[in-house]
Amino acid sequence: MISEKELLDKVPRGLFIAGSWTDGGAGAFPVIDPATGETLVEIADATPEDGIRALDAAVAAQQEWAATPPRTRSDILRRAFDLLMARADEFALLMTLEMGKPLPEARGEVTYGGEFLRWFSEEAVRISGRYGLNPEGTGRMVISQRPVGPCFFITPWNFPLAMATRKIAPALAAGCTVVVKPAELTPLTTLAFVALLEEAGLPAGVVNVVTTTHSAALSGPIIADPRLRKLSFTGSTPVGKKLIAQAAEGVLRVSMELGGNAPFVVFDDADLDKAVDGAMLAKFRNIGQACTASNRFIVHRSVAGEFARRVTERVAAMRVGRGTEDGVQIGPLIDRKAVEGTEALVTDAVARGATVLAGGAPIEGPGTFFAPTVISGVAAGSSILREEIFGPVLAIATFEDEDEAVRLANDTEYGLVSYVFTRDLARGHRMIDRLETGMMGLNAGVVSNAAAPFGGVKQSGVGREGGLEGIHEFLSTKYTLIPAD
Ligand code: NAD
Repeated sequence: MISEKELLDKVPRGLFIAGSWTDGGAGAFPVIDPATGETLVEIADATPEDGIRALDAAVAAQQEWAATPPRTRSDILRRAFDLLMARADEFALLMTLEMGKPLPEARGEVTYGGEFLRWFSEEAVRISGRYGLNPEGTGRMVISQRPVGPCFFITPWNFPLAMATRKIAPALAAGCTVVVKPAELTPLTTLAFVALLEEAGLPAGVVNVVTTTHSAALSGPIIADPRLRKLSFTGSTPVGKKLIAQAAEGVLRVSMELGGNAPFVVFDDADLDKAVDGAMLAKFRNIGQACTASNRFIVHRSVAGEFARRVTERVAAMRVGRGTEDGVQIGPLIDRKAVEGTEALVTDAVARGATVLAGGAPIEGPGTFFAPTVISGVAAGSSILREEIFGPVLAIATFEDEDEAVRLANDTEYGLVSYVFTRDLARGHRMIDRLETGMMGLNAGVVSNAAAPFGGVKQSGVGREGGLEGIHEFLSTKYTLIPAD
């Protein structure tokens, strides 16, 4: 296994534009290990002018990349998948260092993130259209799919690899070129990944990466540039709304993977062992910092006490520490602000009558840790039921009947994912129809899969990533009429 120092020594530190590593016009900025508060490395800080240079490169490469045979695009993605799997341990360690998640989870993200490369290498050669006579019999209709053109991607810090590959892989498969701006808190994984793409044979200019501490200033001019065709963003709903407004000016195609407030509904007929296993995954994976993290545990009154007892036992035994240490299940939160936000939500819930069953407070530094927490008896109106927690806090509220469960579950402006635990098949089907979310786990605590369409309804977003649907975010439908005679 490579040492931390060896890994950091070889990680790229520049901007990647038109196939070359360059300095950033704004100097350099530090990337911090959230488990220690120490600087890992310093990397290039891009200016808005650097951003436009990256777009220039993507625009220059667009035509040739779109004309590259699908099989060639597919082979490059497949080679990238093989290279990533061969270096899975290095990518996992890099993510743990910059983001904090426990090493086994980082390893899981390499598998998940890699699957998008494999899946879309397979989809690249299956882009098809339709051909047929019009109903009048006077013309032939050809319906084909064209790449949308140069894309701009803005990604978050919580899944540094998968949020990049989930966008880059379908874009490349469809024949689009790309500028990526990773989150300033976790840019190293994207830099290492683009170096890997180059090694896999990706031509210069097809993917360009700009790292910056001036996200809004850099993104604005790129989004306003008439040569850009598509904006794809994963991050918080408030930032997503601003970006949609900016994209409206150029009538850009947009994909938005935004925040969530997932309900986790446990009915009185649920298999409680399965519900508890599912709860631990849905809540504590990624230290609670996932858009799919269950935010509200809505448990039938008759089983709420037993459910709380069992999850508390599991949570109290969780090992907290730096993600590189053996057996650690809970790493640090991403920064101090995240710790303060989590603490404020717990404090508000307790002030409104909730009981702390485990944890409940930050852990003294170094690093930005919050104790894994269970609170029960969360009252209606508590902020924790309304806002994304993004921390390791499992908050339990109760319900009396199915209608109330549905009303509580849907009582949010978000609609990304829901989790339902019941042994009653008919009830399960009713929940699929009644819960207003883009995805659902029925007796399952994790739903993500490269072969499935990931995305939300309501203010959780627009568009889908992965699955058969994912590539269509990067294709435009073209209809051509050819007279029959
Ligand atoms: P964020 O919105 O603060 O930042 C996301 C990205 O946007 C970062 O790269 C950031 O630098 C950039 N950014 C911030 N302000 C910007 C601006 N004004 N203009 C341009 N870019 C800007 O979100 P975050 O804290 O990095 O990530 C957590 C959020 O992401 C949560 O809300 C989570 O639910 C969401 N998320 C959603 C999904 C999904 O697929 N639906 C997946 C992961 C995370």
